Amino acid sequence: MSDLLYSTKNIYETASPELISLMSDYAEGYKAFLNTAKTERESVEYAVGYAKARGFREYVTGEKVQPGDKIYFNNRGKAIYLAIIGSLSLREGCNVAAAHVDAPRLDLKSNPLYEDNEIAYLRTHYYGGVKKYQWHTIPLELRGVIIRGDGEKVQVSIGSDPADPRFVITDILPHLGEKQSAKTVRDAFPGEDLKILFGTRPDCADDKEKNKVKYGIMKLLNEKYGVTEADFLSAELEIVPAHEARDVGLDRSLVGGYGHDDRACGYAALTAICNFEGTPARTAVTMLVDKEEIGSEGTAGMQSRAFERFMGALSRSQGVSLDDCFAESFCVSNDVCNAFDPNFAEVSDKQNNALLNHGVSFMKYTGSRGKSGSNDANAETVATLRRIFAANEVAWQMGELGKVDAGGGGTVALYMAKRNIETIDAGVPVLSMHSPWELISKADLYMTYRSIAAVFKDR
Ligand code: MN
Ligand code: MN
Repeated sequence: MSDLLYSTKNIYETASPELISLMSDYAEGYKAFLNTAKTERESVEYAVGYAKARGFREYVTGEKVQPGDKIYFNNRGKAIYLAIIGSLSLREGCNVAAAHVDAPRLDLKSNPLYEDNEIAYLRTHYYGGVKKYQWHTIPLELRGVIIRGDGEKVQVSIGSDPADPRFVITDILPHLGEKQSAKTVRDAFPGEDLKILFGTRPDCADDKEKNKVKYGIMKLLNEKYGVTEADFLSAELEIVPAHEARDVGLDRSLVGGYGHDDRACGYAALTAICNFEGTPARTAVTMLVDKEEIGSEGTAGMQSRAFERFMGALSRSQGVSLDDCFAESFCVSNDVCNAFDPNFAEVSDKQNNALLNHGVSFMKYTGSRGKSGSNDANAETVATLRRIFAANEVAWQMGELGKVDAGGGGTVALYMAKRNIETIDAGVPVLSMHSPWELISKADLYMTYRSIAAVFKDR
């Protein structure tokens, strides 16, 4: 009886050549997305363009919708909800794929620019969980928006064009690193030291100007963007890694890139809804939101009532109360998890950890210590997914975020569950999560896409 015992399989053990080429083609689109969208705003902009090209239209709150309608709601350019109206009433609930499109990075401080010993720097405040030493001596880009004093919004992107300069945070040379190497990692790399080298050429046009390098930098910014130093105050500028997403491994089985957490799932959720064929039974919804890495707060975060407003308007238009809709709804909280890393095997219970190339990883629970801060999904919810995935040839596995008491973490699942929506975590296993160049498997990415499409079709 081969069914008596349970284990997952490496996808490549049984993958057909067709499946392997589907997985690799899908990764090409994903890499292009990652290189374009390095911030939450850029991800939403990408999603709007992608959705419009596939027949989605902007939803005006309160308007009447019909089964088969494809709509999106752009929440302040920092989050987006997309929906295909199902043939069933919203009284039967909807199926939600929820992912976040913010990623750990270095934000510029409100007043960031200064000069020290004839070098201009930008002060930063890190966003999300970063290992600070990983951000020294790697090429960096500057992306974001500045709202000028006159109200004009300026898009900033410096570093991705081959003609652009790049930026960096320096480190001590090993020859003089005796004291540094004796410290703990935490003490050796203080957050306040994450200062971006921004220029070194003095502008000597004004004799009276003391900080000639800083002055030269401001002149360049003024020429390019029409901004003054005070405009930094009303800006959101993000320092992100400058490297591109690329295949990793001689067999090209992996993708290295910045922001797999959680744009890998964001892309899967976006493409699953935008390429859905026909009208689903239950309304399908994809949410791409901001601020997960700092607690899902804010008007564009997962806890924002903007979602209630969107779903409430759709429900009302069908004469259904939002509470009734949510009570029958189902959510896959699409966030990445850790892949088992043989180099750091001691933090994982391998039997309950996601493995590379074994498929999309579900997490019944996350959290820390005794599952604290977790949405512990119901057995019935897992059973629903087992049935759907078996019928749709989705390779999947169950994961857990490390050994008991090794640490832990949370996702957006608990916020969706609080809305009285049955919710479970699922996503792409990641190596080196939260580093400037994370790794995922093409096979797992593709299966994440396929798992969302299967839920939209069959739940
Ligand atoms: Mn995440
Ligand atoms: Mn994260």
